[in-house]
Amino acid sequence: MPEPSLLDIYAARQRLAAHTRRTPLVCSPSLSRLCAQPVYLKLEHQQITGSFKLRGATNALAALSHEQRARGVVGVSTGNHGRGLAYAARAAGVKAVVCMSRLVPRNKVEAIAGLGAQVRIEGASQDEAEVLAGRLVAEQGMTMLPPFDHADVIAGQGTLGLEILEDLPAVTAVLVPLSGGGLISGVALALKAASPAIRVVGVSMRRGAAMAESLAAGRPVAVEELPTLADSLGGGIGLDNRYTFALVRRLVDQTLLLDEEQIAAGIRHAYREERQIVEGGGGVGIAALTERLFEPRGATVVVVSGGNIDLETHHRIVGGEPVERVLGSHCADG
Ligand SMILES: *Cc1c(COP(=O)(O)O)cnc(C)c1O
Repeated sequence: MPEPSLLDIYAARQRLAAHTRRTPLVCSPSLSRLCAQPVYLKLEHQQITGSFKLRGATNALAALSHEQRARGVVGVSTGNHGRGLAYAARAAGVKAVVCMSRLVPRNKVEAIAGLGAQVRIEGASQDEAEVLAGRLVAEQGMTMLPPFDHADVIAGQGTLGLEILEDLPAVTAVLVPLSGGGLISGVALALKAASPAIRVVGVSMRRGAAMAESLAAGRPVAVEELPTLADSLGGGIGLDNRYTFALVRRLVDQTLLLDEEQIAAGIRHAYREERQIVEGGGGVGIAALTERLFEPRGATVVVVSGGNIDLETHHRIVGGEPVERVLGSHCADG
């Protein structure tokens, strides 16, 4: 499949219209005051299933052939990709299997099963769950839908960029949470097609920043996975990365890295000042501004990418409990 284009993003937008929410872009008085520039939040944590992953999954499912749909799709995810895929597959009337290891906590299994996917538990690691997924592809002809490195997934995420352009044509910079790079690749494709002068800034956690380290190395590299409050930003970019590494290298102007205290500050600011419940990975753009890692010059958009945080963990973070203590038990339960 060739790299996605602006046309693919417009096509995705038509496919998504009936099945996803067009999330609001709202002014943030507190961040605008802090930065002395107009700052807006793209409230994508209010997307159905709690994250933008629904966009890419919905688009990739819509692009499947009749035969592929009949055989079903498979994904490997304990989190937002699994939720998005499960919901999108049910909406499309396609069978979905989500593979996980047996270490995944029951609430995560139930969240995905509750959206209608069949959950298959295999092995004691993500790698073993992936082996099972590979077997379902080889033996049953199911189609694997990856979380980011797929042209239709990237085009689906790019619809978020179109919405920003329509709502705020004067945008000068967009801060985007960055892990495997599907979201930022799609958003950057849309924004840079409108104007190469719009700055696209990726924000990751310092602990296990796979894309930032790969950019520095000049090729995809593996990173150690460490406990982080931004768990939805964890994982590698794939040593055989096909799309997102090249797209990020070409289209993203800058990447910022946050430590765990800063990620917690983003969650707290979102709650206290914006009245929004965001997960760690969803709030990194907010944190980049409150922690002064990025200085806006002109209208700036922060993509708030997800809200699926365990409420007990959220309560402890906004209550000011020391991050290392929260992290200890947060990650013990997944
Ligand atoms: C998956 C995810 C990201 C990162 O998206 P990539 O396409 O992997 O870069 C950011 N925020 C949330 C909430 C996510 O679920």
